[in-house]
Amino acid sequence: MVLKGKTAVVTGSNSGIGLGVAREIARAGADVVLNSFSDTADDHALAETMSQEFGVTVRYIQADMSDGAQCRALIEKSGACDILVNNAGIQHVAPIDDFPVEKWDAIIAINMSSVFHTTAAALPVMRAAGWGRVINIASAHGLTASPFKSAYVAAKHGVVGMTKTVALETAEEPITCNAICPGYVLTPLVEAQIPDTMAKYNMGREEVIKKVMLERQPSREFATVEQLGGTTVFLASDAAAQITGTTISVDGGWTAL
Ligand code: NAD
Repeated sequence: MVLKGKTAVVTGSNSGIGLGVAREIARAGADVVLNSFSDTADDHALAETMSQEFGVTVRYIQADMSDGAQCRALIEKSGACDILVNNAGIQHVAPIDDFPVEKWDAIIAINMSSVFHTTAAALPVMRAAGWGRVINIASAHGLTASPFKSAYVAAKHGVVGMTKTVALETAEEPITCNAICPGYVLTPLVEAQIPDTMAKYNMGREEVIKKVMLERQPSREFATVEQLGGTTVFLASDAAAQITGTTISVDGGWTAL
């Protein structure tokens, strides 16, 4: 229960890594705000179920991370925000000369600009509380590139740069800012890329997973959402108080290549 008494806001957390991270934070004793752009009965039921499972307060607050004002409103509506996990993200894969402008704009807004808006809104709240953690879910693509992912790679490199800047701006305060850089994690975002990749390489599902997707991940294993949650809880713990402005890769060796 290392995070008991804290409140965490996790953007894009009704699915995938965000949900896995939110669950590990709740398991560590913190109250949690779940978020996505939707506002369904399932979203609120998810919060209720998590609350009962972990014995902490879990709220669901709708906010579209493509809209700066809604990013800032999410922090305001949350009230407390000791731990901010910027996780919301989308992907689109296309050659740069064929990349739809609206996809570029959406990826830059959701994957990068939202981090600016939520962090700007959360830092005064953390300063008032005298403690804070900003944890950005970047990517191995925040450190390296792949073809056909221009917007995603640009946005994730931007998040890594912003992480360092925020760390320097808060260096003398009890606030840290770090980025986690996952390799491939089997979530709906990655699942959605499998059919196209199967068609492109004329391969079956398992062959695409091992030979194409995990080709750059030397462990040949997906990272899990629980492992990313555990890394997040560590960065939020007192043990990580002097870790700031850096990246932690959870990528099975991808960026060691
Ligand atoms: P996912 O599609 O399972 O989850 C994305 C989450 O973001 C969902 O909860 C979705 O509702 C939310 N979201 C999307 N658009 C939003 C918006 N406009 N406003 C609010 N919420 C929005 O994807 P994931 O794989 O869990 O990805 C989560 C994060 O991890 C992303 O930032 C992604 O870039 C990053 N990441 C994923 C992998 C991977 O292999 N899955 C690897 C590296 C980094």
